[in-house]
Amino acid sequence: SEERSLNFLEEIIEEDIRNGKNGGRILTRFPPEPNGYLHIGHAKSICLNFGIAKKYNGKTNLRFDDTNPTTEDVEYVDSIREDIKWLGFEWDKELYSSNYFDQLYDFALNLIRMGLAYVDDSTAEEIASAKGTPTEPGKPTPNRSRSIEENVQLFEDMKAGKYPDGAKVLRAKIDLASPNMHLRDPLMYRIKHAHHHRTGDKWCIYPMYDFAHGQSDAIEQITHSICTLEFIPHRPLYEWFIQQLNVFPSRQYEFARLNMNYTVMSKRKLLQLVNENYVTGWDDPRMPTISGLRRRGYTPLSIRNFSERIGVARRENLIDLSLLEFCIREDLNKSAWRRMAVLDPVKLIISNYPKDQIEVMDGENNPEVEGGDGSRPIPFSSELWIERDDFMEEPTKKYFRLGPGLMVRLKNAYIIQCDSFVKDDTGRVSEIYCTYIPESKSGSDTSGIHVKGTIHWVSVAGAKTAEIRLYDRLFRVEDPSNEEGDFKEYINPDSLSVIKNAFIEPDLENAEPGFGYQFIRKGYFSLDIDSSPDHLVFNRTVTLKDTWAK
Ligand code: ATP
Ligand code: MG
Ligand code: MG
Repeated sequence: SEERSLNFLEEIIEEDIRNGKNGGRILTRFPPEPNGYLHIGHAKSICLNFGIAKKYNGKTNLRFDDTNPTTEDVEYVDSIREDIKWLGFEWDKELYSSNYFDQLYDFALNLIRMGLAYVDDSTAEEIASAKGTPTEPGKPTPNRSRSIEENVQLFEDMKAGKYPDGAKVLRAKIDLASPNMHLRDPLMYRIKHAHHHRTGDKWCIYPMYDFAHGQSDAIEQITHSICTLEFIPHRPLYEWFIQQLNVFPSRQYEFARLNMNYTVMSKRKLLQLVNENYVTGWDDPRMPTISGLRRRGYTPLSIRNFSERIGVARRENLIDLSLLEFCIREDLNKSAWRRMAVLDPVKLIISNYPKDQIEVMDGENNPEVEGGDGSRPIPFSSELWIERDDFMEEPTKKYFRLGPGLMVRLKNAYIIQCDSFVKDDTGRVSEIYCTYIPESKSGSDTSGIHVKGTIHWVSVAGAKTAEIRLYDRLFRVEDPSNEEGDFKEYINPDSLSVIKNAFIEPDLENAEPGFGYQFIRKGYFSLDIDSSPDHLVFNRTVTLKDTWAK
């Protein structure tokens, strides 16, 4: 919102604009690696990068950070595009780090020619052990003193495919005694004979993140390269490459990644949940992925509001899942159409209502909207479904719903009084008999009767059946990644419960995915993509915060 104070990134940007830096131009980028679907943490980064650029008349590039061919796939590229658009953002250019492979190769050759990079034949283990420890300086490997000519030749041979995977690497020649381990001659290139989803078999050497990322920022002339806190120690290296190559001086800024309780937020872990069938896919409504949240019924606005509300922190924290739920409730309360659905039905018979008569009630779509946002017809008849727990055989004192002798209002219809009930062989209540008060119709009630409770219902004649999926948190502990053992041991076995035969009012056959409904007193729901006209399926997006007075 406009009133909140500036976050630290906005302060930096406003200062840069005041100083005329880059002519006041703001260009950010969102740089996903296409090795999985985006999650709510990425949504935070998207809202931040796109939001801040928009605020200052800047632009944002979408750059696929596709330097690791073995884990990447076009399926992920497509899903990432879709998710960003769905969140409501438009990128300026769509780019790929792999677009820059030629340029990056030339940059690397330049560094070799300046004596600032060398080909090392040491194994990964040898390199690691020669690096020393944070308190002990590293030692040069035998190849560190190779001549420039030899390095140029070897690097060209690496590119030409003369060596197998792992036989050689290209390293920056910086400082083996640096207290910052990232400056102890970091890897720039590795050999990987792998097919790339965009460059095919052209390359068998691929740049490392630290070399590719900053140089891609510089090539695109990104002004503010925003990343998460774990990249703070990489920043000196980011700046070293830019200085040595004398390229556009992009600047890196770090903020705290979003962590949320009762879930995991790493693509590697989410991929395990998918591959090992703990969930039905990346878009399972229990997943913290953008596609999962969308399928569950989250709206783009609710996610943008969530991102705004959590702000931009400079210290790691764990955000409460309930804040995300608060944001979707807040949005759906304003926008969702109200409908009636009975999840645990018992039959109610109105003895004094003409059998076979169907009366059409008018129910406004949303009382939160001026004028009700239109209305829909609701059939009413002598036989209704109501919730089993809206009836008590022996009502307690403060029970304002149905029980022998008690009166209640049927939402959008009449006041009824309970006369009797019958049970089946198993002792369960099977039918509830009532009489209705003809003068008590909602909207034209002249009965003078005041009742404390209102319950929802669905007419047996006209009712549709639906499968309803209710969700709980995916994990039973707050921070599964920080527990002992495998994070999957902490999965909540009851994260999904399915109601096979709920009754819903007939207008819901017009529901479409992506549109939120409030099933009154039951929560917010939306149509699942598994749904078909013959088999309606709804997801509960979130429960109502305040259930009605019991
Ligand atoms: P993960 O660790 O979940 O696999 P990643 O960082 O490897 O994520 P990328 O595709 O590299 O995933 O991320 C793209 C952008 O999104 C990066 O700029 C990254 O910093 C940001 N990002 C990723 N996870 C989060 C998060 N939890 N909170 C905020 N930003 C994030
Ligand atoms: Mg990454
Ligand atoms: Mg990752």
